[in-house]
Amino acid sequence: MIYLGIDDTDSKLGMCTTYLAAVLAERLSGFGLTDYPRLIRLNPNIKYKTRGNAALCLTLDAGPEAMDEAERIALEAVGEFARFEDENTNPGVVLYSGEITADLKEYALRVVRDVVEIEEAETLARRHGMRVHRFKNGRGIVGALAAIGLELYDFTYELLAYRMPGNYEKPRQLDRDSVYAMDAATYPDTWDNVDLANRVIVFSPHTPDPVLYGIRGNSPEVLRRAQAMLKTEPVERSIIFRTNQGTDMHLLCGSIAEARDDRSYVLKGTVTEAAHAIEGGHLFFAIGDGGATIKCAAFEPTKGFRNVVKSLIPGDEVRVFGSVKDRTVNLEKLEVIRLAEDVRKVTPICPSCGRHMESAGAGQGYRCRRCKTKAPAMAVERHERTVEKGLYEVPPSARRHLARQIIRIRQPWCAVHPSR
Ligand code: ATP
Repeated sequence: MIYLGIDDTDSKLGMCTTYLAAVLAERLSGFGLTDYPRLIRLNPNIKYKTRGNAALCLTLDAGPEAMDEAERIALEAVGEFARFEDENTNPGVVLYSGEITADLKEYALRVVRDVVEIEEAETLARRHGMRVHRFKNGRGIVGALAAIGLELYDFTYELLAYRMPGNYEKPRQLDRDSVYAMDAATYPDTWDNVDLANRVIVFSPHTPDPVLYGIRGNSPEVLRRAQAMLKTEPVERSIIFRTNQGTDMHLLCGSIAEARDDRSYVLKGTVTEAAHAIEGGHLFFAIGDGGATIKCAAFEPTKGFRNVVKSLIPGDEVRVFGSVKDRTVNLEKLEVIRLAEDVRKVTPICPSCGRHMESAGAGQGYRCRRCKTKAPAMAVERHERTVEKGLYEVPPSARRHLARQIIRIRQPWCAVHPSR
């Protein structure tokens, strides 16, 4: 087998490395492809990323003797499609014919979860006798090597459909009703096509790249069935990828004290500060565990998810899922594990007239001026909690590629509240 990894060929102004992979799948089809090409999402916090930090890998059913020809075809396609003019485009191409060893798997998982240096990727690839091609600063080899090495212990599929090149500049044409009908007919085996609560189509980008839409789901069969239901502008080509999207593979388990910027975590803690809003509707609250605390954020685009965040009070036990930036967890999911009692101290009520009493002076308790009744101290009011225990997620319109959809989580002991 020959593994061909590619990354970092596109720019914000156009192209998409998935498109290059789709073209290469066609040009290399003479060798025979084993399995679906792999669309691997890497650490979503990497500052160099163009959009979704994707890297691609094709696996050819060929021995080392086919390496020269595969390499020639791959490099020619990179030369033809990569956006070299963008200073942030630094393509990397890696070819390998060998075993996917434990050190390659370990490296790849680190690229999904952590930050690695270009030199580490180069050294590792060369140690395995891989052919490594770096264009410009060649940062793309970091992802290209990870796409080859990653073990997909969990995976989903995505069908990507691309536009006719002549239409790139024009608005995308998709029949809304057909998209909603496709979603209704195939959910929960496909997901994140539309955001029902916020009434938007989310499976089609608005960026100037060749992608018309991407349908995500459980199996290639359901994706093909879903595609057949859509009425859209002409599709130039489409391809199904096996992917680590929707797997939570980016999340590290850790303690609040250890959580570092640019990584993503699952952190358990107790709410220490209820949510407060800042301009723009972004909400912030804080959680703590054994002395360390961390801020958590639900930004405005997370829409209705913020209602859950708003209803948390100090003492609630939660588990938060998301990326850390500036010591703040940017929430992707939230599990409410235990609800604290909502007990509030209020001025006592007068037993005669039913109105709130007033302070009778420092250390003097409370009194009703009208009825002359007295109470020694503040009264306690218990409020019923409105939020339910269980797992909550941000809506599809705010979902990250790697975030595992709640409908993909089977935990009988935990109530789930999927957002669709
Ligand atoms: P494309 O569709 O072209 O892949 P993108 O949004 O996926 O666009 P890239 O343009 O590939 O982003 O830019 C990401 C760059 O960061 C790549 O060069 C990749 O090799 C590198 N990279 C990805 N993950 C890591 C990581 N964990 N540590 C260091 N570098 C990384």
